[in-house]
Amino acid sequence: MSWYENETYLDERPKCPKCGKAMELDDIDYNFKGNQDEYWICDDKCCMSAFVKVRYGKPLGISYTDEDGNQVKWERL
Ligand SMILES: [Zn+2]
Repeated sequence: MSWYENETYLDERPKCPKCGKAMELDDIDYNFKGNQDEYWICDDKCCMSAFVKVRYGKPLGISYTDEDGNQVKWERL
């Protein structure tokens, strides 16, 4: 098991707004416990990414962006 799987604050993986598949955790910018930024990605064809801001141990929302970096969806949690 990778350390990512223990470290995400989401209950379930974000779904790609383009193809509907569960996204993969790509990276975490860890600041301290309860404070981190999570980066999720879809597969290469979609080029969609999702950004999750975690503060005080809670994910605030998910920002989905396309390959050009434009936000296509914002999901409040
Ligand atoms: Zn996708």
